[in-house]
Amino acid sequence: MPERSGRRSFLGHSLAAGAGLALPARWTLGQSIPPAPVQPPDSVRFAHLTDIHVQPELNAQAGMARALAQAQSRGATLVLNGGDAVMDVFAAGRPRAEVLKKLWRTTCADECSVPMRHVVGNHDILGWNRSKSGLAESEADWGKKFSAELLGLERTYHAFDLGAWRIICLDSTQPHGDSYVAYCDDAQADWLQRTLAQTPASMPVCVVSHIPILTLTMLTWDERKRADYEKPTEIPAAEMHTDGSNLHALFRKHGGVKLCLSGHIHLLDRCELDGITYICDGAVSGSWWKGPHRGMPEGFGLIDLKADGSFAHQYETYGWQATAAD
Ligand SMILES: [Zn+2]
Repeated sequence: MPERSGRRSFLGHSLAAGAGLALPARWTLGQSIPPAPVQPPDSVRFAHLTDIHVQPELNAQAGMARALAQAQSRGATLVLNGGDAVMDVFAAGRPRAEVLKKLWRTTCADECSVPMRHVVGNHDILGWNRSKSGLAESEADWGKKFSAELLGLERTYHAFDLGAWRIICLDSTQPHGDSYVAYCDDAQADWLQRTLAQTPASMPVCVVSHIPILTLTMLTWDERKRADYEKPTEIPAAEMHTDGSNLHALFRKHGGVKLCLSGHIHLLDRCELDGITYICDGAVSGSWWKGPHRGMPEGFGLIDLKADGSFAHQYETYGWQATAAD
């Protein structure tokens, strides 16, 4: 773990970066930081930080702190954690899980002075990979109980209002043997239907899931030989919601859903269908703190929600440069 000197220090470094001042060596800029977008009047700005994957290794805690500092310096009034907060408790044993829980909570408390909201990612679920974690259902905080404790959630799916908008946070991850697949289970699907039914169509809605409901990134993942051209493209059930068609139909029927945000893929895309925009944001951790992922630099989404139901999204890099492996 890198030497830490508190929240003020991290924020100070972020402001120094913005002013073009010298930075400590560990924060050498890897990519240029884009200019801050001008916030439209009558809008609320929040940051969507997904796939942080905080861990003791690779200076990840300093990277998380820097991303949080930049989000706040850009005027975000809320930080929405898109899931995969930690690296990793799905396949980890108890000692590692406790280290990561403390690291996540400490960094959030020390480095984020605006409210945070949370979506659960697959890496935040304790022990589901039984063979690797060595854990079992008998653990008191097995599975998503750990996630809820980690993130301070009463339930792993929830909704809240932000400005004129309603934000619906889904729980994408469902068990499948020692692994997982992506969909909303029955109880959550019922809750989602009820929540939308109670939301006037005139109220704009943003749906946030860790795993994408719809993404173009997974249509470009399997380059193949000519002999395989007649086989259909298959999207793994762990990489995109298998109930995505149902969810899209539900959103279209409601009429108020304007934006769906996700992460998990560590790549950035944007897809518009039937008046609904699906954006998958790149990862705060890039390639799990080892550098950009398939060319996509470490970063997060900065979103302005306007009262008229329109929005603006910008992907913000934060100048992170991966350190050499520990
Ligand atoms: Zn994930």
